[in-house]
Amino acid sequence: MSSLQPVRGTHDLLPEEARRHRLVEETAFAVARRYGYGEIATPIFEFTEVFARTLGETSDVVTKEMYTFPDRSGESLTLRPEGTAGVARAFISGGLAQHLPLKVFYRGPMFRHERPQKGRLRQFHQVGCELLGVDSPLADVEVVAMAWRMLVTLGLGDKVQLEINTLGDADSRIAYRNALIAYLDPFRLSLSEESQARLDRNPLRVLDSKDEEDRRVVAGAPLMTDSLTPAARAFFEQVTGGLTALGVPFVVNSRLVRGLDYYSHTAFEFTTTALGAQGTVLAGGRYDGLIATMGGPATPGIGWAAGVERLAMLVETPPVGERPVAVIPMGDAVKALAVAETLRAAGMAVELGFSGNMKKRMARADKAGARLAVILGEDEAARGAVTLRDLDGGTQEEVPLAALVERLSGRG
Ligand code: ATP
Ligand code: MG
Repeated sequence: MSSLQPVRGTHDLLPEEARRHRLVEETAFAVARRYGYGEIATPIFEFTEVFARTLGETSDVVTKEMYTFPDRSGESLTLRPEGTAGVARAFISGGLAQHLPLKVFYRGPMFRHERPQKGRLRQFHQVGCELLGVDSPLADVEVVAMAWRMLVTLGLGDKVQLEINTLGDADSRIAYRNALIAYLDPFRLSLSEESQARLDRNPLRVLDSKDEEDRRVVAGAPLMTDSLTPAARAFFEQVTGGLTALGVPFVVNSRLVRGLDYYSHTAFEFTTTALGAQGTVLAGGRYDGLIATMGGPATPGIGWAAGVERLAMLVETPPVGERPVAVIPMGDAVKALAVAETLRAAGMAVELGFSGNMKKRMARADKAGARLAVILGEDEAARGAVTLRDLDGGTQEEVPLAALVERLSGRG
């Protein structure tokens, strides 16, 4: 270990990459606002139980990936591995059941101790949303459409593919669980150790195994579709019918299950082939049992979360923002700083170097993408004026210092 290295699986966001992250987050939030979502920010750590209970004791996240530690008073705390559990906790502890439906958007860092690789970090970021209190399949349609709208707005409409499935209602899951156990049990000894354990505790999770031999076995497993109750089937038909009506393209993937235990009915993922193995950019589903499992009032819910790092690798880097004005001092540097300050106070972006000759300073202005240079030559200064050079057109003129702000803000 070297204390001067970043911790494995963590990453510094430098300005250019940070702009792409910001674009992803801001676009996601702007789109969520159009659908009536407000922002929620829950703490980055919670009591361990919040995640252990909601994510399910057999999920990968809980068994292998959590950053869990005793704090100084001996409480077991965990850095949040995902956002839904914290929102559900806030819903219960804040008594938000009075305010249904609740539509919230969140963004921020998540922590999972997994093997770092491209698109897979130990500290990564998500944007996500939760809709609590609506059990209609129309909510599923709207929530998936919102994810699609965000991806289209980011310019990723033709880079991603929506896959959708249903995990059914409680009765469908019992029937499916039995069908799955009946199918998998004869293969028990050829399954990985982990899948053998899952077979007893939560056989659905065997479908999610990444082990090659497991996958061969799973390929022949019965499908959820065959165990659906008529009600669960009708629900799914309304979801897919709604998406079709809205023009949201999708494929049904009957093998799609979610890694977390609290989902029912709709499960969906947006995937891309542009990122190699880490192809899932956004995932979500319905979790009608979650709030009750946590001890709150039975409340249906649906939501999704997207990986900001993965999306940021797909988007174009946005420009820095407004093109700055370069202030170029030829004599009095403090005076130049004062001019820059006046322009900034008037709302302009100003580039001002602290050293260098005229040539170096002009080169720097160019690199910063400046549109105009304000040159503070000594002769003009004596007349109380500056030279204003248009860096695109190459023309220049003398402007009285007192009129500079008005001139630059297009009012003079
Ligand atoms: P994966 O199958 O890639 O491990 P997951 O099922 O664990 O994903 P979710 O818990 O559904 O992922 O999280 C939603 C999204 O967050 C993922 O689709 C992905 O884009 C992103 N994500 C999850 N884990 C990581 C990670 N370790 N590093 C970067 N992004 C991640
Ligand atoms: Mg994972």
